[in-house]
Parts: sequence; structure tokens; C-alpha cells
Amino acid sequence: MIVRVDLGVVEFDLSEPTTALLDRGLEGAVREAHRAAAVEVHAMLETELVGARECPECGAGLSVVKTSRRKIGLLCGPVVVPVRTFGCACGFSSRPLARALPKGRHSLAVLERGLYLATMIGYQRSAETLSHLTAAEISHGTLQRMAKAEAPRIDARIKETTRELYGNGVAPEELVARTRADTLVVAVDGGFVPDRSTGYDFEAKCGVVYGSKAEVSKGRVELVDRVAYAGIEDARTFGERMSVVALEQGMLSAGRTIVIGDGAGWIRRMARDVFPDAVYVLDLYHLKHRIWQVFPEQWEVQVRDEVVSACVAGDPAGALRVLKATKPAQERLEAWRKLLFYIRSNALGIENYTRTDLFGSGCVEKAVDVLISRRFKLRGMSWLKPGAQGMVKLKVLRYNRTWNDHWGSRFTEAA
Ligand SMILES: [Zn+2]
Repeated sequence: MIVRVDLGVVEFDLSEPTTALLDRGLEGAVREAHRAAAVEVHAMLETELVGARECPECGAGLSVVKTSRRKIGLLCGPVVVPVRTFGCACGFSSRPLARALPKGRHSLAVLERGLYLATMIGYQRSAETLSHLTAAEISHGTLQRMAKAEAPRIDARIKETTRELYGNGVAPEELVARTRADTLVVAVDGGFVPDRSTGYDFEAKCGVVYGSKAEVSKGRVELVDRVAYAGIEDARTFGERMSVVALEQGMLSAGRTIVIGDGAGWIRRMARDVFPDAVYVLDLYHLKHRIWQVFPEQWEVQVRDEVVSACVAGDPAGALRVLKATKPAQERLEAWRKLLFYIRSNALGIENYTRTDLFGSGCVEKAVDVLISRRFKLRGMSWLKPGAQGMVKLKVLRYNRTWNDHWGSRFTEAA
């Protein structure tokens, strides 16, 4: 249907002829016209929906039996819309406009803008900022609930693609075609979110997939086509979905795939189970950090360098020999034992340094920081898992620049 909206004459008093007052005055006047038009257009919609006012059951004429009022939050502020119930003597009754109105108390446009802010600042401040920037009024609690409710909608596509792959063996479409000279990097990490229900932390899993091209003269070139996926979910769900992202990002056409992890067991198992053809390497940044924790002093530089060199040469046994021969100070003995265990359990990821010149990725550290740390650790914040899940998914949309795609389809589907 086509709805012609007549905003009428927008009038306001301009006390001084300045651009500043003109801009503000116009916005206010248009906002008022917006509110009036919204009420009018809803009445038009209702007339359109009720059609010939004939009862679909018996053909008799319908009459208005009740008028209720619905308050709806719009960008121009809240409006009250009359919603009529049409009835027939035969007992039929219908509220046609109810179908066209949003299920909640706000338009999708208000929610989208509120959630956009909420990916950067707390819910309370998002609600305040939204009402400052527009005339929309929405509570922080509503924004919080809406973030939680958005998670399954954001995940719907990847959930289905993953089911197709693992359930029916149908591979996803390759969105990026690569060449045999390209390496696809899958960097995976976990970020910790303070848990409101236990007082401890829970883990948000985070992965970034990007292409890397070997350039003959200048070393490696990392292409700016990184795509992230993150969620508060079990390792299997996360791993399978990461593999879908990697396939879409050209894992099959690339010459090889490298999975980089920080040494966490779930990442090693994920590499083995869902990336069986990839080369798994231990993130050298994490490994070096561990070595530094055991030997932080200036005078320990030699042992530090020897351990790192052995590792980079793909010789975890050599690194263990150096370590065992050099016990650190008493207070770092525990960290030293943990390092021995870490190198032993990550031997494969260290041996594989000989198979690649990619040792790590600042890219995933950065992604964890952007997707998890910044938003989830604002001023002593703590989270419940479903709420955090919604926020992680919204943040991934921002990171991947797919926010407008997602909300575009939400607007198409929504009432
Ligand atoms: Zn009837």
C-alpha cells in the first residue's frame, strides 16, 4: 500500500534570525508534525485494514464496539494511538490495527538507535543519550531486554548455515574467493566477563578470520577483510560456527589455513575437530608473556631468549631442557611449573612454528578488547549470561560493519 503523509504547514516562531535557532526550531516543529502525522497515519492504516467494514463470517456490517488507546514510543516521542475493536452481531470481533503495531511499546527505529548506543556505553546512559539526541523515551531496562532478545535473531543465519553444514553436509557459499598464494588465518581467544550470578567470570569466545598474502619483498601483508564471530556458548557450537565463517571467508580456495590460539585446551581441541586440515600454532605473544612472567628480571634475559629461540625454532623439547636447567626464584616456582606444563601441552602448536612465518596475531587481541573488554568491564559492571550474549552479538555486528544489513532486514520483517 501507498500512504501519503501530509505534514501540513510546519510553523514556529523564530525569535532571532540565526542558523542555530532555525535548526533547533525546525527540528522541534517537525517533531510535532511527526507526532500528529503518526496518529493520523495509524488511523488511515486502520481504515485500510478494516476494508469494506463487512463481517467476514456473516457479511453483515461491522461497527466499532470499543476504542482502546495504545502508547507507542517513536523517535519524535511517545504518541497515543486509538485502536478500535470492530464487532458484529454474530459475535465476530477484530482489532485490525493491533496487527500493525509493534509488539512492545516502542518502534523498531527507537530500539535500533538505543541498542546502537548501548554497544558503546551502559544501558542507563544509552537511554539518557537517546532521549537527548531524539525525543524518544525508552527505559534502560527495556533496552537491556531488547539486547537479550536480539541475540537469536542475529544468530539465525549462522545457526542455519551451520546446521546445513554439519547436519546435511552442505557447505556454505564462499563469499570471498582466495588464491593458492593466500593464507587464511583463524585467530581464536577468550575474554572474561564478570558474572553477576556467581561473582566470578564467564568466558566469551571470540574469533577473527582474515586473509594474509605472502609478498615476495616486504614480508606478509594482512588484508583488511577481517570478520569476527563471538558468543557466550559451548566450544562445540562456537567451533562449528567459526568453521562456517572460515569457509565463507575462502578457506577452501586459500592455499592453507592457520589456526592461532593462546594455548587453551578448548581451542586446541577445536582446531583438531573442526579445522583438521589447518596448521595449529600457539600464539607467540601469549607464550612470550608466560616466559616473561617466570623470568622478568633484566639479568634473566639470556634464559628468556634461549627459551623463546628454541620455541620459535619449533623445538619444544629444547625449550623444556633450558627451562628445567634454570629454576627461577622461589616465589616464581609455581609459575615455572605451570610454564613447563604449558609448553608440554602445547608442543604441537610450537612445533608448527617451522611450518609458517605467522606466529601470532595482534588482531584477535584487539578484537577481544573491542568486543569484550571495553563494554563488559565498564565501571565495575557485571552481567548475566543471556544479557551478555545479546550484547556480544550486537558488538559483532558493529565490528563486522553488518549492523545496517541486520537492521535493514529487521525493518523489512517487522510490524
Ligand atoms: Zn458477523
